[in-house]
Amino acid sequence: MSKNRLKELRDEIDPINLQILELLNKRASIALEIGQVLKQLGTRNYDPQREAEMLTALQLANEGPFSNETISKIFHEIFRATLNLEEEDARATILVQRKQPDQHTIIEFDNGLRLGNDSFEVIAGPCAVESYEQMDTVAAVLKERGVKMIRGMGFKPRTSPYDFQGMGEEGLKIARQVADKYGMVVISEVLDLSLIPMMDAYVDAFWIGARNMQNSYLLRALGKQSKPVLLKRGFGATLKEFIYAAEYIMAGGNQQVILMERGIRTFSEWTRNTLDISAVPLLKQETHLPVIVDISHSAGRRDIANPLGRVARVSGADGLMVEVHPNPDVAMSDAKQQLNLAQFNQLMDDVESISARYQQPA
Ligand code: PEP
Ligand code: MN
Repeated sequence: MSKNRLKELRDEIDPINLQILELLNKRASIALEIGQVLKQLGTRNYDPQREAEMLTALQLANEGPFSNETISKIFHEIFRATLNLEEEDARATILVQRKQPDQHTIIEFDNGLRLGNDSFEVIAGPCAVESYEQMDTVAAVLKERGVKMIRGMGFKPRTSPYDFQGMGEEGLKIARQVADKYGMVVISEVLDLSLIPMMDAYVDAFWIGARNMQNSYLLRALGKQSKPVLLKRGFGATLKEFIYAAEYIMAGGNQQVILMERGIRTFSEWTRNTLDISAVPLLKQETHLPVIVDISHSAGRRDIANPLGRVARVSGADGLMVEVHPNPDVAMSDAKQQLNLAQFNQLMDDVESISARYQQPA
């Protein structure tokens, strides 16, 4: 008898589950539509006041046996799940997001440099331009090793206002001259949007440093430029914040964005930052943009630049960035991390030997 009753009751529960499922999905579809309307109105999806009103209405209508507290918990979960769904939906429509597995942005320069899916490139040069001789000495070695993009930093973001701030426009002139001499393209950090028109005369691509990753005015301004933009991850930025920073540039109209992982701040005392190598496959998976690994600022020390370079080579990244100086010990900035010319040659030997043996998984 009781066995039959159990079966009867269970048979009653099953269709109710299906009804709840149907209603949950119906609710989610409507919520997605609401999200679209809010987007058109330029308003955020998350509306805590509206959630509070819905919970109050549910509590007033609740006749048990569930307590109001339990009902609130259940609906709170439904609200969260709906918000997650809306976020996923919104992400699928952002420009940085990879839409198909074979969607890859490849950025090409006049000298034949291609940054993107099918190659591994090295971007190198001193931390800052210090003199013509310094740039010329480094560029000759870079050229020899096939490097096609040189750092030509005229403006340096420094912790102390009393430290060397860069040679400014004079440094850019030197960088341009040297790059032209060796057939390289030059990239330089734009610290402020007021510098864009002046810098445009010297550089082939703009560089946004870690400290400026969330400077939305600067990002928007570079979105209006026709030259490629390299965007570094902020040292305290999540990957979501990073890709949304790239979205600012792309939403402005500039589709040529390169992402650079440069290490994040952690409790590690032995390195300047911690290289977040997992960011590389995640950014490659989530976005269609080229991803480069900065092996200099991530560690802040030259003794482990080589192993980090080898790791970068097999990480799925599209290239690495390394600081190289003819005499790092007397460098005006980042003396501890820049490689000398012999160390750079060794790095290139090791990366090339890995490249020769390495087949990127499909
Ligand atoms: C740089 O690469 O020149 C630099 C200043 O690094 P970051 O912005 O990552 O600190
Ligand atoms: Mn530096």
